[in-house]
Amino acid sequence: MARDWRKYLDESESRRRDRLVKIEKIKKQKRSVRGRVVDDWLVDAPLKEGDESEAEFAIRLQVLHTSGQRRGRVIEVHKRNIFVAEENDEGQPETELLWLCSVAKRHFQRAHKERNFVVVGDRILFEPDGDVTLDTDGQPKNTDLPRGVIQHAFTRHSRIARRDPLNPEWEHVMLANIDLLVIVASVFHPEVRWGLIDRFLVQAELEGLPAAIVLNKVDLLDNSKLATSEFMERYNKRVSIYKGIGYDVFEICALRPKKTQAEVKRLRESFKGKLIGFAGHSGVGKSSLLNLMKPEFEQIVDDNPEIFYKGRHTTTYNSLLQLGIGAYAIDTPGVRSFSLDGFDSITLSECFPEFRGYKCHYRECTHDHEPQCGIKTAVEEGKISRERYRSFLGLLKGVSFREGEGDASEAEVIADLKARSQVRDEKLNQLEEREREAEDEES
Ligand code: GDP
Ligand code: ZN
Repeated sequence: MARDWRKYLDESESRRRDRLVKIEKIKKQKRSVRGRVVDDWLVDAPLKEGDESEAEFAIRLQVLHTSGQRRGRVIEVHKRNIFVAEENDEGQPETELLWLCSVAKRHFQRAHKERNFVVVGDRILFEPDGDVTLDTDGQPKNTDLPRGVIQHAFTRHSRIARRDPLNPEWEHVMLANIDLLVIVASVFHPEVRWGLIDRFLVQAELEGLPAAIVLNKVDLLDNSKLATSEFMERYNKRVSIYKGIGYDVFEICALRPKKTQAEVKRLRESFKGKLIGFAGHSGVGKSSLLNLMKPEFEQIVDDNPEIFYKGRHTTTYNSLLQLGIGAYAIDTPGVRSFSLDGFDSITLSECFPEFRGYKCHYRECTHDHEPQCGIKTAVEEGKISRERYRSFLGLLKGVSFREGEGDASEAEVIADLKARSQVRDEKLNQLEEREREAEDEES
């Protein structure tokens, strides 16, 4: 089976530059005392100082390929055991072609030190272990789970991480190379929390990930006891807000997909061929949603699907799940619960796409108490929704708002902001101080 290494060459120029900038940063960190660069891990990092042309990189990859290295995607990580799905010619991981790998010996030290060395979703190059015998197709013979050794990794194009904004080293990368973050909520049971959706959206923006919103259990909107007129007003407003900003919103009934056939079809289309991270609390219908990705649902005929994806993949493990339509899902407790705190207003307002492009008098405007604030004016004029503005303030303060909370709590937020930013400034000063000291020591 010929593997097409050209797949890795179609990155846009800007992405490549970004990559190089990132690599430069990594190199700086990894430079040993004698000033030598030792990084034999990232396969797409330039080998020598300065630039390496695409052609040179292509040659290097081809050499690796012909030397028997295979491309794979990390599916699960259990300490030293790394489950890898070999990638097919389209660059998609095949969960049937599973390998149990370990990191090559020469990387042991780093793998031990860096907690994020290999994570689920990573694209890697591995070699079959010496003991593995291969058939004419190059596939392993007579083994349940063939063993392999990971030699290299590709630079991550996206990731989801938990981090402390003041201590970048305390970062825990949970997932790599996700193409789409799907935020799942149910309208009722449990009732949708819009503030939480905004929180997830900010996280997606922060990671540069495209995001979509799935609102499940819309059948319950027919129940007028649950769906009061106030609720419906809020619901419709929110849906139009998200659509207005440009997020894809799917309103579905996963239990009776026929009810929302067109939406389910649209959803399947937009999931195709992607590696998808699912975010949302348990009970909102993620398993039922994954169930709709099965090939049987190409024509949605079944009124009440009884078989659900349950078991290990949907609960405890951080692992990749192959879906019937050529998409891959990651459902992880980590993504479900990731949270953000302590943002500065510049970062945070960049993560609200509809805030971009407004000018404020102060460069570091927090958009709450300052005069001549472009964002506040936009809210007054109805160009930015009050709901999202409230979410912004809530996140800035580090609390989540419940829907329907009035101006009183808005005032509280504002009052609290000053105190918080003072504490933050102090911490930042301390951090800078420490960095300066460290630099002085080095030189
Ligand atoms: P998960 O915990 O997010 O994986 O959620 P599940 O898929 O297990 O669903 C949780 C519960 O919600 C189950 O009892 C489902 O039957 C129910 N449920 C899922 N989708 C729908 C829906 O579209 N409408 C209604 N009414 N209930 C649903
Ligand atoms: Zn402002």
